[in-house]
Amino acid sequence: MNLAAKSDYYEILGISKNASSEEIKSAYKRLAKKYHPDVSADPKAKEKFQEALEAYNVLSDSQKRQNYDQFGHATEGFSGYQGFRDFSGFGGGGIDFDFSDLFENFSGFEGFSSFTDLFGGRKKRDQHGENLRVDISIPFKEAIFGVTKTIEIERIENCSDCYGSGAEKGDSGKKTCSRCNGKGLLQKTQQTPFGLFSTQTTCAQCGGEGKIIEKPCNHCRGKGKIRKNRKIKVKIPAGIETGMHLHLQGEGNTGIGKGSQGDLFVVVFVEKHKFFKRDGPDIFFETPLSFSEVALGTKLEVPTLKGKAMLDIPSGTQTDTIFRMKGKGVKDLNSGRQGDQFVKVKVLTPSKLSRKERKLFEELNEQNGMKAKRKSVFDFLK
Ligand SMILES: [Zn+2]
Ligand SMILES: [Zn+2]
Repeated sequence: MNLAAKSDYYEILGISKNASSEEIKSAYKRLAKKYHPDVSADPKAKEKFQEALEAYNVLSDSQKRQNYDQFGHATEGFSGYQGFRDFSGFGGGGIDFDFSDLFENFSGFEGFSSFTDLFGGRKKRDQHGENLRVDISIPFKEAIFGVTKTIEIERIENCSDCYGSGAEKGDSGKKTCSRCNGKGLLQKTQQTPFGLFSTQTTCAQCGGEGKIIEKPCNHCRGKGKIRKNRKIKVKIPAGIETGMHLHLQGEGNTGIGKGSQGDLFVVVFVEKHKFFKRDGPDIFFETPLSFSEVALGTKLEVPTLKGKAMLDIPSGTQTDTIFRMKGKGVKDLNSGRQGDQFVKVKVLTPSKLSRKERKLFEELNEQNGMKAKRKSVFDFLK
C-alpha cells in the first residue's frame, strides 16, 4: 500500500475548486501528454501521469466529484480506470457518456498502458474489458415491427498478429523481467520512528507484468492491443421503446490479461411519427370529422399499424370522443400484452362556407331550435 498522503485532486490538475468540466478535461490532457511514460523523461512521469488520471477520473464524474468535495479521499472505491459508468440505472436517460471522449483522452500517445494498474503497488492483474455504449435512433415503424441494424463501433481488440501478447513471437517472445524477477512488484523496507515499514511499488521496468518483450510486435508496436472499427449486426425486437437498450455480451473492449471482453450496450431512441403516437403498447391517433359526419354517423377508414381498418362512428358522436380499436396496437415487450389503437374524434367547424353550404347551414339553424333552447337558460332572470 502507498502510505504517503494523497495530494488534492484540484492541486494535481492545477485548477480551482470550481473549475468547469472543460477546464478539468484540458488540464488533464495537458498533464497526460506531458507525463505519459512513453514520452516523458521525467523519472516521476508514471507516478504523475497516474495521479493526473486518477484526479481526472474523479473530478470528471459529477457524482464522484461531489463525493470527493464533500468527503475527500475517504470515499473512493478505486479499482482502476473503468472508463464506463454503471449501466444499472438505465432508463432515466441520465447517462451522457460520449465514448469518443474515452479515446480522445488517450489521443496523442497511442497508449493503452494507462488502462492498466494505474494506482501503483499492485501487480498487474486481469481486468474485464470496458463496456461500450452506442446510441441509435430508428424510425417509428421499425420500432413497431423490429429491424436488424448494422452499427459501426470502434473498440479495442487484441492485436491479430501477436494475439495480444505484444511480442513478435507471441508469449514465447517474452522474457522474465530482471529487475523484479518476474514478480511485477518491488518491495522496499524502511526504518521509520514508528517501526519497520514495507512498501510495494509496481516495477517500472516491466510495468508490473513481470515479463519484458524482447522484440515488440510490429503491428501493434508492442501494445498487444489495437483499435478496430467493427460493423455489428443488431437485431432490434418489435415493440422496442425509446430508452430501452440491447445488451450485447462480449462486444465491448477486450480485457486485460485473462479478463473477459466488455459488453456493448445499444441504446435505442425511437423517432416521432407524423400521425401516430405511442404509449407503451397502445397507439393514439386523432382524426378530423365534419359536423355532418358525426351528426349522421359514418363508417371511417382508419390507418392502423397493420393497414387500413374500418371504424363505426355512430350518429351523434361528440368531439373528443375516443374509440378503441382492440388489438390494433403493439405487443408489449415485457408483458406480452397486445395493445390497442385509440382514435380520438375532432369535429371540425368549417371556417369557409360555399354559397350552397351556407344555405344548408341556415336551414339547419332554423330546424334545430338552438336559440329557443338557450333562451330558457335566461328564464331565471325574469
Ligand atoms: Zn501485436
Ligand atoms: Zn519487472
